Amino acid sequence: MSNTETTTRQPAGLSFLNPAAPEPWASFLEQIDRVAPHMGGLAKWVETLKHPKRIMIVDVPIHRDDGTVAHYEGYRVQHNLSRGPGKGGVRFHPAVTLNEVMALSGWMTIKNAALNLPYGGAKGGIRLDPRAHSRDELERITRRYTSEIGVVIGPGKDIPAPDVGTNEQTMAWMMDTYSMNVGSTSTGVVTGKPISLGGSLGRHEATGRGVFIAAREAGRRSNVPIEGAHVVVQGFGNVGGIAARMFHAAGARVVALQDHSATIANERGIDIPAALAHVEQNGGLEGFPGATPISVDDFWAVPSHYLVPAALEGQILPERARSIQTRIVVEGANGPTTPAADDILRDRGILVVPDVLANAGGVTVSYFEWVQDFSSFFWSEDEINSRLERIMIGAFDAIWKLADERKVSLRTATFIIACQRVLAAREQRGLYP
Ligand code: GLU
Repeated sequence: MSNTETTTRQPAGLSFLNPAAPEPWASFLEQIDRVAPHMGGLAKWVETLKHPKRIMIVDVPIHRDDGTVAHYEGYRVQHNLSRGPGKGGVRFHPAVTLNEVMALSGWMTIKNAALNLPYGGAKGGIRLDPRAHSRDELERITRRYTSEIGVVIGPGKDIPAPDVGTNEQTMAWMMDTYSMNVGSTSTGVVTGKPISLGGSLGRHEATGRGVFIAAREAGRRSNVPIEGAHVVVQGFGNVGGIAARMFHAAGARVVALQDHSATIANERGIDIPAALAHVEQNGGLEGFPGATPISVDDFWAVPSHYLVPAALEGQILPERARSIQTRIVVEGANGPTTPAADDILRDRGILVVPDVLANAGGVTVSYFEWVQDFSSFFWSEDEINSRLERIMIGAFDAIWKLADERKVSLRTATFIIACQRVLAAREQRGLYP
């Protein structure tokens, strides 16, 4: 699909982006090819996962604050709707492409099925740099985008949520715009909303909490205790920042961090609450006094027990996979490890807890939010966190057991379980007409 893209994938100067990384959709297709031999009688339906059900490309024009008109390209991809409505975030980032959103939507199909949430998979995005826009401009962009994709979203059709570059304010604007267009307040059209608008307690922390739960479960089975462990985290936002805080609170030492502004290390352990407070005040880790700046290459070579890539896709390529010194990679981001790098990590005995399991805490609590919105009955934070634990641990157990039985990676085991669910639904529903 690269001929449909209107810009190259890697504009210069964007932190985290690796020009050598394969296109994300190519990685997704390769992951599907790897699971196909395990599909048994459902093999006939595997091709369905290589064809997104519906792709919407929209023009998003707005008046900028200076009175000029600017156009942005937006997408909503519904990869698969066999098991229920579409579900997945909306990304605002300058490197967003259709190819990337397609891959992200495919990973949502797998993630939702792996956790047995009653959803298909979808994802949206707009190619823009949210840091280069005022709040008013972001509101106009979000509202116009929501209106443009309004025909394909809805509480029973496709439910967006936050992702990189979007937050609960974005969701409030999306909810309001959709509600204005349909003529009644519709809280269940998006998740990750502010609590005052039907959001769920625990949703903000859920992805980071899920990453920590996945790490803990992997560590318990691999004899790598969290207490005293050295941890390296890439990305210090809603996923990496919260996961780092939980590792720190559990007695681990976060020895290196990277965000969009800086790469830092401290082998005695970074004071995570202080680093979070610094980011809150300054917008990034740059200038944080409790650690020393290091180079990007040195960052990937810092010895650790847990390495948590929690930024963007295409971070761990073969070269880095050969030099990384860790025991367990826990993928907070979507798609951080390419298939070729995955093989190298496996050969080196490094366990990878895949994105479609490790970062599924966010969409799991999104599901709770959607259920609470429908029933207009809201749960306590303890109730949410204990249900999240139960679902994550149940999924982890089943995936671990299957990986052990079939002698496959955790990623392939997760894909086997997920694809079986999706393809069984597809077969049972049959083809129309
Ligand atoms: N954007 C998050 C993800 O990649 C959450 C999606 C959701 O809650 O729908 O899983």
